[in-house]
Amino acid sequence: MPYSYEAPVSQTLFDRAALVTPGGVNSPVRAFGAVGGTPRFMVSGDGAWLTDADGREYVDLVCSWGPMILGHQHPEVLAAVREAVGRGFSFGTPGEGEVALAEEITARIGPVEQVRLVSSGTEATMSAIRLARGFTGRAKVVKFAGCYHGHVDALLAAAGSGLATFALPDTPGVTGAQAGDTIVLPYNDLDAVRAAFAAHPGEIACVITEASPGNMGIVPPGEGFNAGLRELCHQHGALYVSDEVMTGFRTSRTGWYGIDGVRPDLMTFGKVMGGGFPAAAFGGRADVMAHLAPAGPVYQAGTLSGNPVATAAGVAQLRLLDEAAYTKVDAVSAELRGLVTAALSKEGVAHRLQHASNMFSVFFTDREVRDYADAQTQETFRYTAFFHSMLSQGVYLPPSAFESWFVSTAHDERALEHIAAALPAAARAAAEVTA
Ligand code: PLP
Repeated sequence: MPYSYEAPVSQTLFDRAALVTPGGVNSPVRAFGAVGGTPRFMVSGDGAWLTDADGREYVDLVCSWGPMILGHQHPEVLAAVREAVGRGFSFGTPGEGEVALAEEITARIGPVEQVRLVSSGTEATMSAIRLARGFTGRAKVVKFAGCYHGHVDALLAAAGSGLATFALPDTPGVTGAQAGDTIVLPYNDLDAVRAAFAAHPGEIACVITEASPGNMGIVPPGEGFNAGLRELCHQHGALYVSDEVMTGFRTSRTGWYGIDGVRPDLMTFGKVMGGGFPAAAFGGRADVMAHLAPAGPVYQAGTLSGNPVATAAGVAQLRLLDEAAYTKVDAVSAELRGLVTAALSKEGVAHRLQHASNMFSVFFTDREVRDYADAQTQETFRYTAFFHSMLSQGVYLPPSAFESWFVSTAHDERALEHIAAALPAAARAAAEVTA
């Protein structure tokens, strides 16, 4: 097993896990399938740093896939969680924490007039799609290749993220009926959207898109793309659904909406808004949300929805995320992008660094990546070499070339210097490796 010698305790845990859990993990990309080697079992996180079961420390550039924008164990979030836990774990009744989190979201994001809390991004997009169908009385949903919206049956067609990593075109277990109402189009292609509306008059309930895609690597929307989607949706009586599970409260105080200003009918959120705990949401136009039970007929529910500990963490994290926090995260991201590109350029490695605000990813290709097909042309074997060199030097990158890198306000000079010291050898490894 390559690389396993580096992490004997993690390897032992992985072997144990594989006996009781399919593939040894609870979410596929964690298994290191795309890069090989032993997944590191983490035991603690502090600020920008993670410590694994073998006692090694890493600068964390995954940040739990986005949520940990203030770093691990931010003292004020920790205090809010401790306080909430001390009052009980879950009541299954309404509570003030969920009202406070909903108020925090609606106050920041203009298009969200009403919001419903759920426990995962998958639940949020699944529910938003159901609501869009219930509201319009139409069945079909348009999504884009390379956009990932969680493992919702109807949306697991040409999805990015783990499915990009594993190159699964589709997944067994999703029936033709479940995926049959999904229309998958190339990203950044408004003509394709126009053609779909023309081919299916009165049938399309909504277009769902990542506000700025981060699940095929970072592929921002072209100039006018989101505005064009909204316009086409409204011309044809469909809803424009913007998935901000990844970008929401991460790319700015008001997410990607705050950057492009295109007003969605429905939006979905997760990750940052839960402060590292399971909390997510969908919301939007009050007249659409009024169709949701118990106000309206479209059913949706959850035993742990609005959990008091998760909402306490989310409220504490969002309240700490002022403009200064985003200025800091953006500056860390810009500095890191500069370091990465300088190291790769020095070794003559063809690459393309794309970013959406402070989210970024490196494609090992020399062409601009505008859609999923472009993303798939990259030389992923170079990423593998780069990834393992960084890992062995104490930098934890996403274990797939198709994922965003994430930084936090806790990434200080010490963390950046540690990364800078690791980059030359990693760039060399990427230059020297052969397919
Ligand atoms: N939507 C987007 C844009 C995502 O990036 C993700 C997860 O990465 C999801 C939805 C699903 O969220 P969750 O993993 O919390 O179910």
